Amino acid sequence: MKRLMTAGGMKRRVLIVDDEMINRELLGAILSQSYEVAFAADGAEAMTMLAEEEPGFSLVLLDLMMPVMDGFEVIARCRADKRLRYVPIIVMTSEKTAEVKSIRAGAVDFITKPYDMPEVILARCERIIELSEDKSIIRSTERDRVTGLYTRGYFFAYLQRLLPHLTAPMDALVLNINRFHLVNELLGHQEGDRILGVIGKLLMEKMTPLRGIACRSESDTFFVFAERQNEYDSLIKELQKQLGLLTKAHDLPLRAGIYHCQDDAAEPEIWFSRAKAACDRISGQYNTLTASFNNELHEQTVFRERLNSDVQDAIDNRGFTVYYQPKYRIQGDRPVLTSAEALVRWNHPVFGFVSPGVFIPLFEKNGLICKVDYYVWCEAAAQIQRWREQYGIALPVSVNVSRVDIFDNALEKKLLDIRAAYSLDPGALMLEITESGYADNAEQLVDVVTRLRDRGFKIEMDDFGSGYSSLNMLTTIPFDVLKLDMQFVRHMLSDSKKQRLVEVVMDLAAFLEVPVVAEGVEEEEQLRALRALGCDIVQGYYFSPPVSAERFGELIEKELQEKNAAHGNS
Ligand code: C2E
Ligand code: CA
Ligand code: CA
Repeated sequence: MKRLMTAGGMKRRVLIVDDEMINRELLGAILSQSYEVAFAADGAEAMTMLAEEEPGFSLVLLDLMMPVMDGFEVIARCRADKRLRYVPIIVMTSEKTAEVKSIRAGAVDFITKPYDMPEVILARCERIIELSEDKSIIRSTERDRVTGLYTRGYFFAYLQRLLPHLTAPMDALVLNINRFHLVNELLGHQEGDRILGVIGKLLMEKMTPLRGIACRSESDTFFVFAERQNEYDSLIKELQKQLGLLTKAHDLPLRAGIYHCQDDAAEPEIWFSRAKAACDRISGQYNTLTASFNNELHEQTVFRERLNSDVQDAIDNRGFTVYYQPKYRIQGDRPVLTSAEALVRWNHPVFGFVSPGVFIPLFEKNGLICKVDYYVWCEAAAQIQRWREQYGIALPVSVNVSRVDIFDNALEKKLLDIRAAYSLDPGALMLEITESGYADNAEQLVDVVTRLRDRGFKIEMDDFGSGYSSLNMLTTIPFDVLKLDMQFVRHMLSDSKKQRLVEVVMDLAAFLEVPVVAEGVEEEEQLRALRALGCDIVQGYYFSPPVSAERFGELIEKELQEKNAAHGNS
């Protein structure tokens, strides 16, 4: 089947422009077998039709000598018109000299008069249309629709081709507009796109004298590859000024990270990820517009990459251990050990002890957290079983469930399998889900959490009050325990507003009929204040930091002794 004949089920349209009727009819007869043909008797008429007609023409066959407006004028006008620039034009002429001239002016091919071989003419038209459509596909993958800059894919392909010919030292720049999503939210996506378009155009203008190329990499991130400059602050300042004028907002900081490209083995993609790392580092800073990738950042990147690649090894070779921090019920005569939170620890063969505060956020970003969490869940379940055998008590343990886990379709099955494998009661394994996990995709989360609760898991809303909690969330998302974020406890004694907030949360929890766990309790006074406010459960250094399973066994023994003593007294 000839793909040339139709576009989207419609015949392609060809415009024949000639002042002699006999020529129009002759050509029309040849082409109408394959195309929908329209006619114009001079250049002016042709321009009107080209300007008005939708869905446009795939090809123009153009006579050069015509009254009113000749063919050369038509070519010139089309080439100057943004919409008509790429419509292929074949000129029809009997003069050899005019052929060269018209091709120079921008025609793609010519047909000599008089027309003798219809098949040849038809084949020529087909080929020209095919070529022009292929080119337009290339154009559309080459250019970003919103900004007119290169697309990311084309940018890197082009960069690779440039590399062997470079003579000057080059820089990789990553430009990022912070909080650009606000523009989309406040002014609408269309306006957001328009603003990005202006910024893209400006960037392109700035790049030309620097002999650079630029692309839009993601929504509000631009990549630039250009000859090394002494400084980039003035470029950023100017773009920032434009951005301010366009958005009438001052709070969209534009920042650039720079990597000085070297002849090392690193791939261009890595140059840009380094520039991006430099950019990320200053994204929250007010006075710094640009930053270069330096050794410190290099080490950080290498460190992170190493952590990523060592996860599996740590799982296989017990590099991860699970620590347990006790939670105590505080409303009775004496604090009673009720449960524990499982917290992962990493003793790395090279870096030594690595804080979860470092690797958890990293693994949350790249999804590796699912592996780590699964390991911790299994370990915790095995530990519950061991303590049960050792002490005859089933101490519930909470495990952390990261936001990424929520989007894992196998989550429910994984947890049920673990529970079955260690013959745990439904309530033995409790799930802590951080509050920010609730904000993103509430619908899916409500779904997942509801199903888990139906299966008997107890859900604790972790870090409550640290993020963008909405009261609405409290009523739509089912949970069993509220875990007050540590910052409240930390400041409640010195800051009366924080104390008041704790009271409000207690009231809320009472209204919802769920217990409150206060985290980060370090001092006796905090404990007393919380007890007075009606807080049920407390976790923190005051009682114990997270400890190994072995040390935790001692806490259980102590609890059992105290329990016995209390019984003995009564
Ligand atoms: P989190 O879930 O809020 O865990 C409580 C953190 O507070 C723990 O830090 C704990 O050691 C610390 N902490 C407990 N009591 C006190 C106190 O009295 N004072 C102070 N200053 N800190 C206290 P850790 O173990 O470093 O964990 C940090 C975070 O890493 C955790 O915060 C949790 O979000 C995450 N995390 C830890 N283990 C895991 C895990 O297995 N899976 C997932 N997804 N996240 C984990
Ligand atoms: Ca937690
Ligand atoms: Ca917490």
